[in-house]
Amino acid sequence: MAMLFPHFPFQGDETPVSWAARMSALHGSPNLRSFLADQRISPSDLLHGRQAVIERLCEVGGQDPAPVWRNTASSEGNQCFRLRGEIIPASMLSREETRFCPLCLHEDDAGGSNPGPLRWDRLIWSLRVVTTCPTHHLPLIYRGREHRENMLHKLILHVPERGEDLLALVEDVPRREDSPLQAYVLRRLDGHKGPDWLDGQTLEQAVKATQMLGLVMAFGTTINLSSVDRDDWDLAGRVGWEWVAQGEQGLHAAFRELQASAFARGQGGQNYFTVFGQLHRWLLEPGDRSDHGPIKQVLRDYILKNMDVCVGRKLLGKPVGRRQKYSVQSLAVETGLHRQTLCKVLIERDLIAAADAGKPYSILLVDAEKAREAAAALSRAVPLVQLPTLLNATRPIVTCLIGLGLLTPLHRSVGENTRDKCGLDARELNQLMDRIHALAPELTYLPTEWVNLTQCTKRARIPMRQLLQMILQGGIKKTGRAMGEPGFNALRFDIEEIRLRAS
Ligand SMILES: [Zn+2]
Repeated sequence: MAMLFPHFPFQGDETPVSWAARMSALHGSPNLRSFLADQRISPSDLLHGRQAVIERLCEVGGQDPAPVWRNTASSEGNQCFRLRGEIIPASMLSREETRFCPLCLHEDDAGGSNPGPLRWDRLIWSLRVVTTCPTHHLPLIYRGREHRENMLHKLILHVPERGEDLLALVEDVPRREDSPLQAYVLRRLDGHKGPDWLDGQTLEQAVKATQMLGLVMAFGTTINLSSVDRDDWDLAGRVGWEWVAQGEQGLHAAFRELQASAFARGQGGQNYFTVFGQLHRWLLEPGDRSDHGPIKQVLRDYILKNMDVCVGRKLLGKPVGRRQKYSVQSLAVETGLHRQTLCKVLIERDLIAAADAGKPYSILLVDAEKAREAAAALSRAVPLVQLPTLLNATRPIVTCLIGLGLLTPLHRSVGENTRDKCGLDARELNQLMDRIHALAPELTYLPTEWVNLTQCTKRARIPMRQLLQMILQGGIKKTGRAMGEPGFNALRFDIEEIRLRAS
C-alpha cells in the first residue's frame, strides 16, 4: 500500500472516520466510500474500528497510529464498543445524527478555503452524554443522518453552512456550562480519577445511575419516560450529579428527600414505587438490563434501613431477612393489636410525632426494637380501674403515683372521662410493687402503734404526694408490712420518724 500523503496529520480530538473523510476530500474522491474502495478498506470495518483498518489508514496518511487508535471506538460485538479501555454500549453513542458546534467548525474553516479536508468531527460529539461544547459553552446542534450509510459522509455535507451562515446558527443561543456529568465522562476517558463511587462502575452504569436519579429529583417520581426529551436528560444528568458526586451518602440524602416528599403527600409504606417512582421501576427491569450497577444495592440498603419491609419477600431481587422499621400497620398485623391504640402508645412514647397522627398507618414508621417494646407493653396492659386492686392502694394513692410519674399510662386519651380507658404496663406495676416491698419488708412483729399511709397523711399533716415521694426516696428505718400482705395499703410507719423527716 502506497503512502498517499507525505503526512496528513490526525487531530488529537477527532474520530478515525472523520480523518479518513478529510483524506478522501484532499484526494479528490467523490465520497469516502469510493476512497475506501480505492484503498481496499471495507467501510464496515472502519465503522467497527478494526485495528487492521486503522493501521492501513495510518500508512496511507503517514501517521503514527497511536493517537488514532486512542480515539477509535472498536466493536466488541453485542452492540458494545471499547474506547480507551472503557466499554461503551452503542446506546451511548450517537450514530444516527451529526452533532456539532458551529464555532468549532468556523475555527476549522479559518485554516484555508476548502472546508472538506479542514473540518473534523470531534470524538466527544459522538458521545450522547456530551451536549455542550466545552470550548465555546454552546449547546451542540443535532442533524439527523437518516441512514447509517451517511456516517461516511464528509462533515461539509451534513453542515453546508460556512462563514456568516455558520455564525448565524448560534447568534441568539445562550451560552451554558457543560454538564458536570459530561465533564466527568470526558475526564474519565482522559484517564483522570474520581469521584470514587462512580469510578467503581462501568461508564454506562455511572451515567445511567446519575441520569435516572436526577430524572426523579428534577421532574418528580411520576414522570413519563416517553415525554423526556434530550434536554430533559441533560438536565437530569446535571441534577443527579449533585447527589451521586457525594457517593452513597449523597444517594441516601436523595432517597431521604424522596421519602419525605412522599410522606408529605401521605404516600409510602411498602409501595416503593410511589416513593421512588421511575427510579425504582428502572431497577426492577429484568433481562439484559439487570446489571444496573451499585445503585441498586444502595437503594435496597436504604429501604431496609429506613422503610417498612415484608420479611421473607423479595426486595429488589433479594429476599428480606430482617426488618429495622415497622409501620404502625405492619406492627398491628404482626402483634394483633389495635392499630389506633398502638398508634397512641407510640405517640405517647415520642416514637411518632403527634402532628403525624392523621397520616395513614402504613406510612408511620418506628424503629423495630422500640416498636416491639411498645407493642409488648400494650399487650401487657391492665386498665386503670384495676389499679387499686392490683396495687392494694386507695384511689388517691394511685392518682399520686401517676402524678409523680411512677406509673405511666401507655397513652393519654383526649377529652373528659376517658382516662379510665387508658391502660398501664403490668410490668411497670410489678416493678413498683417490688420496689416498695423492698423498702418496707415483711416483719414478724409489727408495732401496733405504727400507722398506714392514709393515717400518716392525716396525723402528720403531710400531703399524700409528698409522703410517697419521701418513702420512695428510701432511708426510712421504722417501716414494714405484716407477713403475706402486699401493696401500698399494707405499709406501716412510725409516725414520729415521718414527722421528724417532714419537718
Ligand atoms: Zn465549540
